[in-house]
Amino acid sequence: MEDYLPLAYLNAWEYCPRRFYLEYVLGEMADNEHIILGRHLHRNINQEGVIQAEDMLIHQQQWVWSDRLLVSGVIDAVEEQPGQLVPLEYKKGKMARHLSDHFQLCAAALCLEERLGREIAYGEIFYHANRRRQQVRFTPELRAATEAAIAQARAAVYQFMPAPIQHRKKCQACSLQAICLPFEVNQLRSEKNVSTLCDPT
Ligand code: SF4
Repeated sequence: MEDYLPLAYLNAWEYCPRRFYLEYVLGEMADNEHIILGRHLHRNINQEGVIQAEDMLIHQQQWVWSDRLLVSGVIDAVEEQPGQLVPLEYKKGKMARHLSDHFQLCAAALCLEERLGREIAYGEIFYHANRRRQQVRFTPELRAATEAAIAQARAAVYQFMPAPIQHRKKCQACSLQAICLPFEVNQLRSEKNVSTLCDPT
């Protein structure tokens, strides 16, 4: 499974293709307060195991993969009730329309479906910041968009590093800002009027 795309990097891809490239292709890593807080909040759910809660089994840290899509990774939890499986991810932020989170969850569900041979209708994301669960339905549109994102991310591995995105808020929250230098690179790019992909030199 060496060249299977890890599910977590799909989240990075949707957040910013350059971040995906820096992390996954070049192996760059850096912490900031968001990363450290996320790791801290995950500390209680990082244990593999099965918990019984009334009529539900909770499979924590469930390893899944898809040979069709060439992705693999770990789902934070899968809740199993009679006739129903619900994949669950924990995120530190607030509930909103985070497509990156939806893609990661949907890709995990596609893996589970392939492994188990049954359809999964929806998953849930627990957002620590407002302590609420968001239900994410795996619609045909979300499934198609997730598969497209997987294909694009896998193809990006063999291309030049993408240019920085034009999104100040995302860049200010990004732990790789000091490595990526988005504002400086974009300034230079606008002066030189270069193409959307970085020059290999
Ligand atoms: S700083 Fe901005 S452009 Fe650079 S990797 Fe992070 S989000 Fe992407």
